Amino acid sequence: MPSLTPSQLDRFTTKLKQDYQVLLIEVRGELEHTGDQHRIDLLNREPGDSGDESMANALADFNVAIVDRQVRGMRDIEAALRRVRDGEYGVCVDCGTEIGVARLEAYPTAKRCIVCQEKRERDYAQEGHPKM
Ligand SMILES: [Zn+2]
Repeated sequence: MPSLTPSQLDRFTTKLKQDYQVLLIEVRGELEHTGDQHRIDLLNREPGDSGDESMANALADFNVAIVDRQVRGMRDIEAALRRVRDGEYGVCVDCGTEIGVARLEAYPTAKRCIVCQEKRERDYAQEGHPKM
């Protein structure tokens, strides 16, 4: 059971949506240079309008390298908002313990507790995953 209070959850949801808007604005700015109206139209929809369809996934399909960072951020936020909707926000996806408010304050999109995150990063490092 997540221990976040409704008002805390509200605050994180608001923060996630704000962050999403910032990324959208950045993406829109980049895409306007490309003059691709179809992609720009895509961005003018509100997140969540299209049900489960992910705007980040739709953008990623275009394989626009210049907005890669933003698309990844949007995908993280969409996933976090889905967890809010499903009542799973703030709970580690790996071990099921609470992620903790302090960690969520720093990383509102966190889906793992610090222990599982560090373990995962170690595993990734061993696979030779490029460090960001
Ligand atoms: Zn965990």
